[in-house]
Amino acid sequence: RHSKSPFIHTLFARQTQQALEYGLAEPAVDEFATALCAFFAEGGKGCNVTVPFKEQAFTLVDRLSPRAKRAGAVNTIKLTDDGVLLGDNTDGAGLVADLKAHGASLADSRILLLGAGGAARGALAPLLAEGPSELVIANRTQAKAEQLAAEFQDLGAIVAQTYEQLSGRFDLVINSTSASLQGDLPPLSPALIHGEIAIYDMMYGAADTPFIAWAKRHGARQTMDGLGMLVEQAAEAFTVWRGIRPGTKQVLRELKRNLGIL
Ligand code: NDP
Repeated sequence: RHSKSPFIHTLFARQTQQALEYGLAEPAVDEFATALCAFFAEGGKGCNVTVPFKEQAFTLVDRLSPRAKRAGAVNTIKLTDDGVLLGDNTDGAGLVADLKAHGASLADSRILLLGAGGAARGALAPLLAEGPSELVIANRTQAKAEQLAAEFQDLGAIVAQTYEQLSGRFDLVINSTSASLQGDLPPLSPALIHGEIAIYDMMYGAADTPFIAWAKRHGARQTMDGLGMLVEQAAEAFTVWRGIRPGTKQVLRELKRNLGIL
């Protein structure tokens, strides 16, 4: 209902001179499969899928991209010319692209990822591909963090720890929990925050998210919210559909203006 994707994709289409119409649909939880079939039967060419349907979409497509298979979730579907529904996941690529756009260095850095839900799962392979010295994953439900660490072990140095176990100096903390949605904070010790740390919250809003506000209060100077990730994952999806990569800088600026941030 509050999706910014029509706004973003309309700007991408204008910029790349593609004829594209991007609408919104909000099926009932038990009617997602029916709605998806109807969309393609009625001539839809591609779509994005968001919470809470990404895992269902994963089971419904005909073919999965390697990154969607790794993520266990699908946020982008394309109807190919031979009538196959291809499922992809662009969230992790969007996160890494946005981190790089902010100048964050990931190679040899020590990264802390908070949360072990769908967004964390999508982020892990692209983050590990950047070659961090260590990626520590912490989650309220510890078993889920351990499960992810085991699943992604082959891609790099990843360990699961409880929030209480976290120690040492992290270069980057990524909040992929949905705690901010309830105005809550992940139970992170303020002692982990220092002046040179980079903070990324996948959430975004017109004002600082609760996590970013908290990190700033404890001395973090570089903070980033998930608005750039939203635009970057959309650019990646647009590229999957149209084979043309739109520029994101100007679109992010327009989106901020639209949200009253600029
Ligand atoms: P999920 O529901 O799959 O996972 C939520 C995670 O948050 C779980 O690990 C959960 O822990 C944790 N969590 C929830 N509440 C709290 C709390 N109060 N304290 C500590 N941990 C908590 O959600 P997603 O992974 O799909 O999405 C996570 C966030 O990322 C959302 O806010 C979403 O909006 C954002 N997002 C942003 C994108 C962007 O483009 N900017 C793209 C995708 C997601 P537990 O396992 O214990 O329940």
